[in-house]
Amino acid sequence: MKKIQMVDLKGQYDEIKDLVNTSILEVLETTAYINGPKVHQFQKNLEQYLDVKHVIPCANGTDALQIAMMGLGLKPGDEVITADFTFAATVEVIALLQLTPVLVDVNPDDFNINIEAIKKAITPKTKAIVPVHLFGQCANMEAIMEIAKAHNLFVIEDNAQAIGATYTFKNGTKAQAGTMGHVASTSFFPSKNLGCYGDGGAIFTNDDDLAHTIRGIVNHGMYERYHHDVVGVNSRLDSVQAAVLDIKLKNLDTYNRKRIKAANAYDAAFKNIKEIMIPYRNDDGDSHVFHQYTLQVKDVDRDALVKHLNEKGIPCGVYYPIPLHKQKAYEDSRYNEGDFPVTNQLVKNVISLPMHTELDDEQIEFITSTIINFING
Ligand SMILES: *Cc1c(COP(=O)(O)O)cnc(C)c1O
Repeated sequence: MKKIQMVDLKGQYDEIKDLVNTSILEVLETTAYINGPKVHQFQKNLEQYLDVKHVIPCANGTDALQIAMMGLGLKPGDEVITADFTFAATVEVIALLQLTPVLVDVNPDDFNINIEAIKKAITPKTKAIVPVHLFGQCANMEAIMEIAKAHNLFVIEDNAQAIGATYTFKNGTKAQAGTMGHVASTSFFPSKNLGCYGDGGAIFTNDDDLAHTIRGIVNHGMYERYHHDVVGVNSRLDSVQAAVLDIKLKNLDTYNRKRIKAANAYDAAFKNIKEIMIPYRNDDGDSHVFHQYTLQVKDVDRDALVKHLNEKGIPCGVYYPIPLHKQKAYEDSRYNEGDFPVTNQLVKNVISLPMHTELDDEQIEFITSTIINFING
C-alpha cells in the first residue's frame, strides 16, 4: 500500500507534470513575472468557469478577505458577523481593519453559520456577514441573502474551501460557490481544492464598481499610475502561480469528483456505525466538494482515536480544536458560552480524515477498517 498522506500533492503533480512545467517555463522565458499574460489568462478562465463578471487575483486568501472588506468601505467599529467554527483568517482580517468581529454559532450538521444565530446577532452597527463555506459545502446562502437584504448588509463569502461547489436555491436554480454574495474571496494555498505551488488568492464579484475599486486597492490604491486615491495594499498573484493554476483549473471538476468519490467510499464504510456521524450533504449532487472529510464521533475518545490512527500511519486532523471565541486574540466579554453550544461540542467531536485526489481503494479500506476496529475495541 502507498503511504497515506493527509494531502498528496506529488501524485497530482506527476499527472500534469509536462503541462505545468511547460507553462512555468513560458513565464521564465518571457520574464513576465508580475501581472504577465498568464495571470490575465487565468483570471479570464476562472471568470468563465465560475460564471462571475470579475475575478481579481491577489497574493493569498487572507489578503482576499481583507481587500474585499476594504473595497466595501467598511469602517472601524462596523460589526461583521462570522462563524465561530472556522480558520482564524476569517476573523483576523476583520479585527485588523478595526471592524468588530461578532462570532456566532454554527449548525450541528453541515458545520456552517447558523441562520438563527445571525439574526440574533444583528444590531444597528452590523454592516456585513461573512459566511464561510466550510469543508467544501456552501452555507445557507438563500437565507443569508434574505437577511442581508432586509437589513441592508453586505455578504462576503469566504470561499477558500469550496471552489467548484454548487449551491441550489429553492426554485431549483444553481450557482457556483463564491458568486452569490456581494463579493467573495478564495485561497489557492497548495492544499486547497484549487491549489498552486506557493501562495495565491482571488476576489470575485459581479459588481462593476466594486471590481474597479478592488483593482485599485490591490495595487497600492492606484487607478492611474502614481496617483494614490485610496489607501491600498500590494497583493498580487505571481505569474508562475498563475501558470500552475491555469493548468489545474482545467482539472478542477475532475479533482473535485475524485474527492467526492473518496467521500462516498468513506460514507459507505461508516454508514452503519452508530458512533460515527458521516458528513451531512445538503443535496445529492455535487454540492459538497470535500475540502475536508470531517466526521463527528460520539461515545468515542476522539483524541485517543487520533493517536491510534497516527500510530498506524494514518494522518488525520482536528479542524478546528478551539472555537474562535475562546482564542486569546478574539476573546470578548460580550460573548456568552451559552450562545455557542454547537461549536463547543464540535471541537471535541470532529476528526478529519485524509482527503485528496490520489486516495485509492486499498488506502480507504485500511483507514476505515482501522477506525471501525478501534471503535469496536
Ligand atoms: C485557507 C483559508 C483562508 C486563508 O487563505 P490563505 O491563502 O492561507 O491566506 C481563509 N479562510 C479559510 C476558511 C481558509 O480555509
